[in-house]
Amino acid sequence: DVFYRELPKVELHAHLNGSVSCPTIEKLISRKPQLNIGHGMTAIGKGQRRTLDECFQVFKVIHQLVDTEEDILMVATDVIKEFAADGVKYLELRSTPREEKHTGLTKKSYIETVIEAIKQCKSEGVDIDVRFLVAIDRRNGTEVAMETVKLAEDFMLSSDGLVLGLDLSGDPTVGHGKDLLPALQKAKNCGLKLSLHLSEVPSQLEESDLLLDLPPDRIGHGTFLHPAMGGSQGLVDKVVKHNIPLELCLTSNVKGQTVARYSDHHFKHWYQMGHPSVICTDDKGVFSTDLSQEYQLAASTFDLSREAVWKLSHDAIDCIFAPDTVKQQLKQKWIDLKPHVF
Ligand code: 5GP
Repeated sequence: DVFYRELPKVELHAHLNGSVSCPTIEKLISRKPQLNIGHGMTAIGKGQRRTLDECFQVFKVIHQLVDTEEDILMVATDVIKEFAADGVKYLELRSTPREEKHTGLTKKSYIETVIEAIKQCKSEGVDIDVRFLVAIDRRNGTEVAMETVKLAEDFMLSSDGLVLGLDLSGDPTVGHGKDLLPALQKAKNCGLKLSLHLSEVPSQLEESDLLLDLPPDRIGHGTFLHPAMGGSQGLVDKVVKHNIPLELCLTSNVKGQTVARYSDHHFKHWYQMGHPSVICTDDKGVFSTDLSQEYQLAASTFDLSREAVWKLSHDAIDCIFAPDTVKQQLKQKWIDLKPHVF
């Protein structure tokens, strides 16, 4: 539906390597035919489901395909242009810096390359404001988390506002948030914004309770926080008290089977409460979706009017990590575009 594509949108939860589209995957495969990676191995098609564990296997395949600065530059520029073509006006991309000894890729050059891609798109006049969040993979533990915070801090100070904060992601069944708390605390103290994946699986209630005391600036998924999903009122109270926006990814949660049906998605509980809830894609490549589709899906599942959808995309502006001046620019853009969209 053209309304959803033309609707100006804010994307706040997009993992770089999960966002790689089929055409870009084809280019990567042709660069590395010796890996013998098939086209079907990197995306979950319509109607298909995987366990969360199988989803994490998919990322390992993509990481094999994206292991040089050249790959990262191509992947990041393609992903940015695809979001822009889908009507996304402001994007916070997140990615886990990786070191690859055999190609000379370092965590520092990884981040520099993503920044280079953002600058290239800007200089080409692509109509999207892109920022970067450095991701910590929870699997890698305390020490790597600390190093990542240091790296993110250096880039925050040197990237002209392009690096805004940190993401905590990775397989939620591995590792424990308490081991990462000192690193996250340090990040917060030096002014990095925090977006944390919380309660993606049911067993994380204690961890979420601990991490909510930081408090984070945004929550990824938060699927099992609400009592209706098996969480607790105490957790909801903390989220509400600190007014922490949720990044909600419908297709990702249904395809990854942490939510049984679209109509069961926790979006409905938080949206009904009037709590800041931002529709996002998570991994548009892996889950074969885009942000327009996610808005359309939310609208059809929860019976939202076009005005309500407009307000949903507009209110996401208040949840971005960039400063108030950027929020004002975006709000003006929404005003300018409204007559064109309706
Ligand atoms: P990258 O950080 O390499 O750009 O993007 C892929 C990585 O993002 C995955 O290896 C994983 O750490 C993280 N990721 C992507 N999607 C999800 C998700 O749905 N849940 C969690 N917890 N992590 C994810």
